[in-house]
Amino acid sequence: MKSMVLAEHGGSDRLQLVDQPTPIPGPGEVVVRVRAASLNHLDIWIRMGAFGKMKMPHIGGCDGAGEVDEIGAGVEGFSKGDRVVVAPGLGCGLCPDCLAGEDSLCAKFQVLGSSIAGTFSEYVLVNARRLVKVSDALTFEEWAALGVAYLTAWHMVFGRAKMQPGERVLVHAAGSGVGAAAIQLAKLAGGLIFTTSSKDDKLARARDELGADATANYATGDVAATVMEWTKGRGVDVVIDHVGPDTWKTNIASLRKGGRLVNCGVTSGPKVEMEFRPIYARQISLLGAYLGNRHEFDSLLKMADAGRIKPVLDRVFDLADLAAAQDYMDSRQQFGKIILRVP
Ligand SMILES: [Zn+2]
Repeated sequence: MKSMVLAEHGGSDRLQLVDQPTPIPGPGEVVVRVRAASLNHLDIWIRMGAFGKMKMPHIGGCDGAGEVDEIGAGVEGFSKGDRVVVAPGLGCGLCPDCLAGEDSLCAKFQVLGSSIAGTFSEYVLVNARRLVKVSDALTFEEWAALGVAYLTAWHMVFGRAKMQPGERVLVHAAGSGVGAAAIQLAKLAGGLIFTTSSKDDKLARARDELGADATANYATGDVAATVMEWTKGRGVDVVIDHVGPDTWKTNIASLRKGGRLVNCGVTSGPKVEMEFRPIYARQISLLGAYLGNRHEFDSLLKMADAGRIKPVLDRVFDLADLAAAQDYMDSRQQFGKIILRVP
């Protein structure tokens, strides 16, 4: 099978297209013929070695959709050719957190394409518990887009922030995968949405295509001041953030008393200097989010199948052009998800 393989941590020039043996499924496992994968910033952090050294050579890719190819012993409910989406996260299924439906808290929670081989390949070997059968209501490219970004956004909006109809939310970076997804899902929750970008054309698309209610260009304007104007001095109920240090002050200044700040990542760096007083004095809740739970993934796919969520797709690259696709993601030109087609 053809795979995009990382031989050592570093830049996108370390990615190589190689031919290697197709895996054989063991008990409880399935081999999926990948038809489409999608890109996440997580892939770049893994490539750069931000999570420590991976076993090399490594195949990245957390999201994917395709067809069941080979089925291991003891796997029931799947047949060769079934259309499936691969869940990016998997818990042990047995611990108290997994049994409570909080598998993203499982000590053995495993993200596809990080410690195990992922979807940037013609075939991927997965535990059968990762698979969800899907219809042809969406294309493989669209199904593949509904992985890490949409699941994380779902977990933030519904699982962690528990957004209520009529609440006002600030979502950063409308053009990013998580940002676009969070706008769509907060809208689904009945929220009123304020979003940001450094590009006016992306803000126009966020309003026209995703239904954002108000916007600000963070490169040319003062986001917190505009949020305060929009909320008539009250501040937003919820902030959905994946940027970290660069948005920290804006986030605290934009929240109402008793507001919730949900964060799922730090694209602007891992450390922030913070003033603690506003946290207790204004009773702000800080909520972390790491991917999401399986029941949330199932709900997300169900809503997409019913046409209630339409994944926002940006450009589609071929598997062999993964390096160019990752460089494009790094350049932050995209609006929505960048897709890898696996011919
Ligand atoms: Zn578990």
